[in-house]
Amino acid sequence: MLQQTQVATVIDYYIRWMQKWPTLQALAQASLEEVNELWAGLGYYSRGKRLQEAARKVVSELAGRMPRTAEDLQKLLPGVGRYTAGAIASISYGQATGVVDGNVIRVLCRLRCVGADSSSPAVIDWLWDMANVLVDRSRPGDFNQALMELGATVCVPKSPLCGECPVKQHCQAWRRVEKDLAFASQKLFGKAAPVPDVEDCGLGDCPLCPPATEPWDSSLGVTNFPRKAAKKPPRAMRTATCVLERRGCHQAPEYFIVQRPSSGLLAGLWEFPSVPLAQDLQEEKEREELADHLQAWTGRPVAAKGLQFIGEVIHIFSHIHQTYVVYSLHLDGDVTLDPALSPSRWVTEDEFRASAVSTAMKKVLKAHGKQRRKESSPVKGSKRKRGAKALGAGSPCPGTQLSLRAFLRAPKGP
Ligand code: SF4
Repeated sequence: MLQQTQVATVIDYYIRWMQKWPTLQALAQASLEEVNELWAGLGYYSRGKRLQEAARKVVSELAGRMPRTAEDLQKLLPGVGRYTAGAIASISYGQATGVVDGNVIRVLCRLRCVGADSSSPAVIDWLWDMANVLVDRSRPGDFNQALMELGATVCVPKSPLCGECPVKQHCQAWRRVEKDLAFASQKLFGKAAPVPDVEDCGLGDCPLCPPATEPWDSSLGVTNFPRKAAKKPPRAMRTATCVLERRGCHQAPEYFIVQRPSSGLLAGLWEFPSVPLAQDLQEEKEREELADHLQAWTGRPVAAKGLQFIGEVIHIFSHIHQTYVVYSLHLDGDVTLDPALSPSRWVTEDEFRASAVSTAMKKVLKAHGKQRRKESSPVKGSKRKRGAKALGAGSPCPGTQLSLRAFLRAPKGP
């Protein structure tokens, strides 16, 4: 849970998770649906899915016994990479093996003035070698946690607290700053002497040194390290999504949601019927594509012009800049759910929030609610009345509502 997420965010999720599945055996019996419901809001949903798959594997294939070395953990359990394997093996089972996460990268790069791109294979290999050499043989778990904590609390990305740092005497970046300061003060008093670069290893093509084009910048101090390659901009995606709404019992709104495929982005989560769009598509075309998609759920053509535009909702996934183009459609009747299609269901707003839906879909519903409130403001009261009448007409609950097919069927002649 803590990968890519901060402790403060995780605590409530962790407590709920451990209360629901206190053992591997309990987790092994959970469904993906339950896992997604509990994980909803944490992001990176494949982590929850793989955690459950790993529990299942331990119970069904490994006789309930967790692998105990970093090598076996990584080899045998889905979703366990090098870092997670090292963390579990050292913290839980006392194996003297190092860990390298973002905090450790920062600390080690500063300790040794490693100025090459910290995501390059040469630097990553060097960091793992260094972590494995440094780890305390008698208390590896404590050592690894201390190193990560040092990066999280003292050797932080901006404004590190070098004055309070327990390892500053061993830190080459700090020594370099001290030498710079000494040189500056000597210069002030006219006694300047040349200061050699402490990280100057003398090799022109050293894979760990800063590139010659990006020398030490005195104004940055120790934050010259680590250096990262420029991040790739996230991929831009547009998706049309439709909030299909009907009035349920006592006129409470209900929403139609469908389940995503069990693999890929947001696997197994529920969402409003959505369709990916090509970039730069005309609005008219977007509507048509969404209307065609909705046809799969209704079994009959849906008029593109009948879709009400709500607005655009932006959501940033780790590598995707997603724009949801949100429409809505009122239904005065029921939808006959087709079991041949992906699972789908009608939910109230409370049920929607308790379902395994992504944060992005919650934003979509929020935008829809905002639009509805705007429409029902006193200025537009007449519109609201007309809408309420249309929605309520002919739909007493339960059981006597028209089917969606009937609703969408073209009116017969007089
Ligand atoms: Fe980080 Fe400063 Fe400590 Fe070096 S002295 S490890 S740069 S906090």
